[in-house]
Amino acid sequence: MRFPAALVVCALSAAPLSAQTSVRYALAPSAVGADGLSSVLRVTLALPRDAGAPSATLIMPRAIPMGYAQVAYDQFVTVTAARSRSGAAASIKRGEGPRWSVASASAADPLASIEYEVDLAAMEANVVAGGDSSRARDGFVGLLGYSVFAYVEGFEDRAVELAISPPPNRLDWPVFSTLAPKAPALPGPMKAVAGDFYNLADSQILMGPRFRVRKLKAAPDLFLAIHAEGPADEEVMAPLVEEAVDALVRYFGAAPFPHFTVLFDYLKPVSPRHTYGFSMEHMQSATIGALASAALTAKSTDRERSGFRYNVAHHVAHAWIPKRCAGEGYFPFRWELAPLIDTIWLSEGFGQYAAADALSDVLPPSADGRPYREALVQTRFRNTLRDMPDFLKRMPLVELSRTASTFYSEDFRTGRTVFARGGLMAWEMDERMRSATRGQGRLRDALRALVAWSGREKRAFSIDELPAIFSAATGVDTRDIMDRWLAGMK
Ligand SMILES: [Zn+2]
Repeated sequence: MRFPAALVVCALSAAPLSAQTSVRYALAPSAVGADGLSSVLRVTLALPRDAGAPSATLIMPRAIPMGYAQVAYDQFVTVTAARSRSGAAASIKRGEGPRWSVASASAADPLASIEYEVDLAAMEANVVAGGDSSRARDGFVGLLGYSVFAYVEGFEDRAVELAISPPPNRLDWPVFSTLAPKAPALPGPMKAVAGDFYNLADSQILMGPRFRVRKLKAAPDLFLAIHAEGPADEEVMAPLVEEAVDALVRYFGAAPFPHFTVLFDYLKPVSPRHTYGFSMEHMQSATIGALASAALTAKSTDRERSGFRYNVAHHVAHAWIPKRCAGEGYFPFRWELAPLIDTIWLSEGFGQYAAADALSDVLPPSADGRPYREALVQTRFRNTLRDMPDFLKRMPLVELSRTASTFYSEDFRTGRTVFARGGLMAWEMDERMRSATRGQGRLRDALRALVAWSGREKRAFSIDELPAIFSAATGVDTRDIMDRWLAGMK
């Protein structure tokens, strides 16, 4: 198994343009209409100079890394043109699944570029899980990479050069990419690079006058970006975001990213069927979506602020687990069909426990003297599990994880049961490690070791390898705890 290429930030500029080996994407929304919307996105994909083949297969993602669901983004895509290197029009044929076959008229005339459009208005109307959709709103375009970028089969591992333009009649609109964040966002076109298609697809783009971005701190550079269709107070949000990110970097010992962006999208609902509670984590950003009425303001209670901080910490924790340390199925990612994953209980359960444990290191105990992590284990894991149906509790954890691989949020009982059981497993391991080492060792050390192991081995871990990695880091055997939680609950 291969992990995504490290982000290439400056290596591309060293390569002469004549030897273009990267895939180039140019992206621009359509002109803003009288309604203030720019609801169609135009994308041109240029193949590398060394590609050389007269035909290609274009593929649009139908699965989201960590989305644990299928979303047929291809239904919003129209491939409008394709050209060979001589400039001649190439043929375009819709294939089965999210595929298009594109062929040059002459075998001696290699394919050079493919142009397509993405209907953002149709996407937002039809994808009712608000967090899975790109959107065009008044004075704002927000794009999730995997919902707008297609790839040419066989070129997923190539480096990517991306050129982003604002709508043609709004060339002064600020443009922001999580691949190359800047605050404030600069007006007009910008360029960015990504190490491969995964990193492009896992990035986000914002444009328009209706979002704001600020840099909270340096090394790693932390950005806060907000698009809110109602009141949202960044003075209240910023310190909580910073606290959450700092706690996680301290917990894992180092930041694996040079910069990180936490994006908030507080929205008015498109329809009563649309939901906006789910957030999504990415290699170097987290996108947190909610209803405009749920935005944090000066009037927010302590409980709301605490929930907000935990939610940020939870999604930032995923930058380590599973984005840079995962079981099989996460990398290389299967874009056309959501992969079945055996270890969502670890990605979500241990990931969330790590967030709680990291905050526990920096926050005071609760009113009754319990550490923060203990209160969170109660509310987030025990109470959640208590309300879940028996058939999900009895299911072996790997089987439940495979089920949740496509149903996680669609039937959130699967997601909640899998993360709660994983979180309680993590808690029990941590308790044993702390008591057996008299407080000298803890799960944090085991997770740091697992992240280091993944960096060294550059492959996915198998479940069976976990106890040895954890025990080497802490001197504490936890295999029996893992085995008991993997079995169905009695
Ligand atoms: Zn999560």
